[in-house]
Amino acid sequence: MKFHILTLFPEMVDACLETSILGRAAKAGCISFHSVNIRDYTLDKHKKVDDYTYGGGAGMLMQAQPVYDAWRAVQEEASQKETVEGVEAESALREETVECAARESVKALPVKRLRTVYVTPQGRTFTQEIAQELAGEEELIFLCGHYEGIDERVLEETVTDYISIGDYVLTGGELPAMVMIDAVARLVPGVLHNDESAETESFSGGLLEYPQYSRPPVWHDKEVPPVLLSGNHQKIDQWRLEQSIKRTKERRPDLYEAYMQAHPEGLNPKKKK
Ligand code: SAM
Repeated sequence: MKFHILTLFPEMVDACLETSILGRAAKAGCISFHSVNIRDYTLDKHKKVDDYTYGGGAGMLMQAQPVYDAWRAVQEEASQKETVEGVEAESALREETVECAARESVKALPVKRLRTVYVTPQGRTFTQEIAQELAGEEELIFLCGHYEGIDERVLEETVTDYISIGDYVLTGGELPAMVMIDAVARLVPGVLHNDESAETESFSGGLLEYPQYSRPPVWHDKEVPPVLLSGNHQKIDQWRLEQSIKRTKERRPDLYEAYMQAHPEGLNPKKKK
């Protein structure tokens, strides 16, 4: 899966994505990142990308032209790649030269519409469900705003999804984009070493995850729950489900209510509707 990030601060994005699990997964080729500096596309001789807002008001706004041209360059690159791949398959059949055929059909191909997420406090709130939905795409574009945001006209022409990370306002879209990319990337097969961990974590089954313990068995006079040392996996699973339900009820009553409506049997499978 490939992530394109349109930003005024590519160094911020690169530093984050080269690190830890995502960096390792990118090196292994499971995912790839492409940060695009919107400023590289401005036609302004002073490299300006923002201007005052019409109608007055505080702050500057990112202008439409550099954002659109950066977005279009990514779309064109994706279209070109697709064309070359298609042409390669075709030319293997027709025994034509790949180079000539690719050059011809690139000219004719319209700009491909990769799903484009504008990270904004004005979007629907990001959830694990949205992460799962986005993980089904082969390529995604994330557009990061700054200052007062971005000229509405270019948003209308480029954006497919408006997504927020919560009801608060940050200075820029880079951190929200990183949050979303992290959550999506870890669902891509091969990114996590243990595929199971993404399936059993909080939200995946509608519940928060159960408490977890590691060595030593006693720390600060607190013992690891004995069932976890019993080796009886049926009992361990039952204990974990109980703990998940208890924790969700205490910390997220909204999720608990929804879970109990979907699973009225609760911990007692005989009570199924
Ligand atoms: N004027 C905008 C408003 O009132 O909705 C806020 C602009 S904010 C200062 C600058 C940029 O940060 C936004 O364009 C967006 O990309 C990003 N941003 C800020 N808060 C965010 C949030 N909660 N979720 C996603 N992106 C956010």
